[in-house]
Amino acid sequence: MSTSDLADNPLLVTDGLPRFDRIKPEHIVPAIHKILADASARFDEIEKNVKPTWASAVESLDELNTPFQYGWSPVSHFLGVLNSPELRKAHEEVLPEVVTFSLRVSQSEPAYRALKELKEGPAWASLSGPQRRIVDHKLLDAELAGIGLTGEKRERFNAIAQEMSQVTTDFSNHVLDATKAFSITLTDPADVEGLPPSLLRLASQAHNSTLEGDQTLGTEEAGPWRFTLEFPSFGPFMQHSRRRDLREKMYRAYVTRAASGDWDNSPLITKILALRTEEAQLLGFSTFAELSLAKKMAPSVEMVGAMFKTLRDASWSAAHRELDEVRALAAESGAELGQGGQPLMNWDIAFWSERLREKKFQFTDEELRPYFPLESVLKGMFSLAERIFGIHVSPADGEAPVWHKDVRFFRVSNDSGKQIAAFYLDPYSRPENKRGGAWMDDCLGRKFLHGKLQLPVAHLICNSTPPAGGKPSLMTFREVETLFHEFGHGLQHMLTTVDYADAAGINGVEWDAVELPSQFMENWCYHRPTLLGLSAHYETGQPLPEDLFEKLCAARTFQAGLAMLRQLLFGMTDMALHGSYSPTAGESIFEVQRRISEQTSVLPLLPEDRSLCAFTHIFSGGYAAGYYSYKWAEVLSADAFSAFEEAGLENEQAIARIGRRFRDTVLAEGGSRHPMEVFKDFRGREPNPQALLRHNGLA
Ligand code: ZN
Repeated sequence: MSTSDLADNPLLVTDGLPRFDRIKPEHIVPAIHKILADASARFDEIEKNVKPTWASAVESLDELNTPFQYGWSPVSHFLGVLNSPELRKAHEEVLPEVVTFSLRVSQSEPAYRALKELKEGPAWASLSGPQRRIVDHKLLDAELAGIGLTGEKRERFNAIAQEMSQVTTDFSNHVLDATKAFSITLTDPADVEGLPPSLLRLASQAHNSTLEGDQTLGTEEAGPWRFTLEFPSFGPFMQHSRRRDLREKMYRAYVTRAASGDWDNSPLITKILALRTEEAQLLGFSTFAELSLAKKMAPSVEMVGAMFKTLRDASWSAAHRELDEVRALAAESGAELGQGGQPLMNWDIAFWSERLREKKFQFTDEELRPYFPLESVLKGMFSLAERIFGIHVSPADGEAPVWHKDVRFFRVSNDSGKQIAAFYLDPYSRPENKRGGAWMDDCLGRKFLHGKLQLPVAHLICNSTPPAGGKPSLMTFREVETLFHEFGHGLQHMLTTVDYADAAGINGVEWDAVELPSQFMENWCYHRPTLLGLSAHYETGQPLPEDLFEKLCAARTFQAGLAMLRQLLFGMTDMALHGSYSPTAGESIFEVQRRISEQTSVLPLLPEDRSLCAFTHIFSGGYAAGYYSYKWAEVLSADAFSAFEEAGLENEQAIARIGRRFRDTVLAEGGSRHPMEVFKDFRGREPNPQALLRHNGLA
């Protein structure tokens, strides 16, 4: 590739907004090679000359990052929103080199020594609180990556890391293989009675995908239908299948996945736990749980345990009542439970819960949709942000390069009219090239370097229903909540006032605190004036009828006790295995889970339950001794919202006052201070789980 081609490469532009309209897969390899070559040369220089000063040990690395923000972040972004085989191929080709370079930077001994000297030397006194926190975080990251170890200990640490990556990969492959190996194929329409059309479509596709050669394709109306243990199939099947015997078969298969034969994960779990304990001890911690918490907001294993206990005690009797209600409905309906009045079993709960939900609330997603056209929802959400945070969001479509015609662009200004941020919104589902789910991503982060301020720009990605058949995009209530959630992450990214990249926005926020602003925003979807204000029937303009709003609120707490206990079983088992389990103490991992289930399952686990063998979150994902974070962050967000409730949700002045305080603490300070201090500044005290329990109807 010649220099003139490089001069034209949009991934090498490093000012303004990324040139999303011009980036093509063929730009990736040459651009990344150029960026890596420049960065490596520059990093050689830095390593040679790095000094124990802020400018040298921190800022010079920030500068190194700019070309990656413009050249590499768009590639990762496009994998999610504009995927194609060409893009994947180019990404795969350069990924290992990018990873190698980033490891080199994060494990650099000279950079680490300079930071360490900075902390211990005279310059430390002149650093601000946020600067010190950034240095401390960098030191901790390097130390947890084993940089402080020498000799045999270092070798052993690296060997553990290698082995862990192998064992955890095997673990997740076993789960995948075992999940794939089981299915039930049905051919008689009587057997699929009651199953929703979306599940039948999925099951028909699943069957057709197994066909070879000239075998005749089935249809979703006439079958055959193939049901699998993947959640989009398993979940709805358990909720809707009237064949109790098949539910039992599916359920038993689900909780014994990857627990026997070639795919048996039990020995891998033992191995993973032993390796993690050893790793923690090499780094000076007594357990892996302590190591995990070293980088989180939760101050100690005991505090996490205390939260578990409060939530568990409040949910226990409610969950029993909820189960009794399910049992009563099942008994009333008689025959379904089989001859001889068999007791309600694990495979009956989802089914009868669904029937109970239908009976109690009698509304469907489809009934609500017409009230939530995207445009009204956005208007209402921006008006809420204006009222509580004093910011103004204005559409600026056409002022920024975009990757798809449906992508919107917005500018955000503060109460004195000054622009402080911008964001892209990619609202609609686009199965052909866009990943499912929803997320917020950082496009550009706020930083002030060499007298120049870079404003934050966010990506908000949703998968809402696109406009069709002359109708605008009509959202389900869940899609509205999701939009609020991602907007909450986006607000923390955009309303930051921190000038250092490593602590601006969501950067540097402990991961058990990251969901605070996002879940906080979701609460407003149940705020009457907000929800009625953003709803407008797409034909009549009428707001959501009062009775539907009431039902929505009532449905929010449906089976909250059972749902809470289910999460606590996962979280407490995770913490016990990583915090106090010892393979020589005479209790197996399954006995640990069973002991915890006695306090958290209102219906006992089956004797053969081996669901731990498929617990990928903690054995092959990033949630080891961290599954509690889901609940921890919910406690924070509910408690933050309760500050508004205490002042009166109908009191606009009070909402505005507290909203500004939330903006100036949680949203503005982000990762520049410890999240507990930030929270206390906002709330005036430490977090309290009572608000979460109250919102769940469990107080
Ligand atoms: Zn989130």
